[in-house]
Amino acid sequence: MRATIQRQIIMDTLARLHQHATAEEVYQAIHAQHPTISKATVYRNLQAFAQQGDLVSLQIEGDATRYDHRLALHYHFVCKQCDAIFDVDITPVEHINQNVQEQYGFEVDTHEIVFRGICPACAANQNKHSNT
Ligand SMILES: [Zn+2]
Ligand SMILES: [Zn+2]
Repeated sequence: MRATIQRQIIMDTLARLHQHATAEEVYQAIHAQHPTISKATVYRNLQAFAQQGDLVSLQIEGDATRYDHRLALHYHFVCKQCDAIFDVDITPVEHINQNVQEQYGFEVDTHEIVFRGICPACAANQNKHSNT
């Protein structure tokens, strides 16, 4: 299979899955429709695309690498109860890149912010349980 077709399948699958899928989830979804594409190919391509900036890899401690097809700078919220990852679309604080650059001389490409806490669904669940 041509590399460009494989690439298209991988990118489409990532976009179709719930956001922030792991390589394993992407592979499982592809495998169901294209059994000839190997696991190694999917993993290798995801890594390569992330390196090329065609998608964003998210490293959240204690969790497998996740891939995000949304390239625009945005932040994430991780629920400590259900481990779900949500997009947080507040206005990016891009000026902090500049601040760090000026103060330390680092050439900053980007920054990541991960908020942690309890998502509304889990919070509702907890309230239900504490009332009974
Ligand atoms: Zn939750
Ligand atoms: Zn995201």
